[in-house]
Amino acid sequence: MRISMKQLNRTYGSLHAVHDISLNIPSNTIYGIIGKSGAGKSTLVRLISLLERPDSGEIYYDDKRVDNLPKDELIAQRRKIGMIFQNFNLFSSRNAAENIAYPMEIAGVHKEAINTRVEELLEVVGLAGRGKAPISTLSGGQMQRVAIARALANHPDVLFCDEATSALDPQTTRSILTLLSDLQKKMNLSVVMITHQMEVVRDACEHVAVLENGSVVEEGKVLDVFAAPASATTKDFLANLAPLVEPDEVKRDDMVRWSDEGGRFTLRFRGDSTGEPVLSRIQKTYDVEFNIRAGGVQRVSGEDVGTLICDIIGESDEVDKAVAALQLSGILVEEEGQ
Ligand code: ADP
Repeated sequence: MRISMKQLNRTYGSLHAVHDISLNIPSNTIYGIIGKSGAGKSTLVRLISLLERPDSGEIYYDDKRVDNLPKDELIAQRRKIGMIFQNFNLFSSRNAAENIAYPMEIAGVHKEAINTRVEELLEVVGLAGRGKAPISTLSGGQMQRVAIARALANHPDVLFCDEATSALDPQTTRSILTLLSDLQKKMNLSVVMITHQMEVVRDACEHVAVLENGSVVEEGKVLDVFAAPASATTKDFLANLAPLVEPDEVKRDDMVRWSDEGGRFTLRFRGDSTGEPVLSRIQKTYDVEFNIRAGGVQRVSGEDVGTLICDIIGESDEVDKAVAALQLSGILVEEEGQ
């Protein structure tokens, strides 16, 4: 299911929490919405998941307008929406299977059909045989798996994940992201992932919108945004990326090592140019030296994106020529303060 938003606004008193947001979330994909705390992510999700109405603007699921549905239609529509949260929101008085059964009980599904579906869902999220487990005996990752199963119980068209991995350690985060990616493909789901972690966007999303002060400051395919970020906020997120896996599991080509000392230039490469000895070729042609401060190559949507933070030392006209040659090789060159 495709979700479109047109000029959405939501204010709380004088605070403009969501400011004129227009976005298209394509169907059958994982779409990330990233922003720092207070950027307006949760408010936006409450609007597009129909938990709250916007002050103005329109929301469409495919071609159906849904922001102004009458109450009974709203309830029916909301049953086709799955949600998971940072703190799982499970019932501690119910075991895993009973938690998963809950939305089907509310929807009036027949008891036997519920039991069959619960077993199916436990299997899908990798918890086969754990249905009777009390919630308190489950790990954080297992609790999120129960929450995912519960969210999928009524065959939703869309799954909203609000900081779903923020309370989990890096390894569990990775396993939950892998599960969500697999489910998305298997069930042709649209998944909207709200996060403040660029690692989550890198490892799970195909598209991303970057939010700041209630507005979208950048939007596009994750690969394009990583290779050529346009906004200062996005660059800041990228500069603070860390590998998601535990240090002893980091593969060499997964590694990003950022030092706090910046260089004057940030070079961004993608695809084939990451492996090419472009710098040494340029260093031989022009009277410049590269002093590399930090860098790494990351795998984004199946392609390599490289970043190097460096100084280019030399006479200014030689530096200019070197920069032009870098750009000709398809490398994006950002100069500090420009
Ligand atoms: P994020 O999810 O990105 O952290 P939120 O959507 O939670 O951001 O919040 C955006 C802004 O709106 C914040 O300044 C927050 O304090 C404010 N806000 C959110 N919900 C409410 C509310 N129900 N009442 C008043 N202010 C709110």
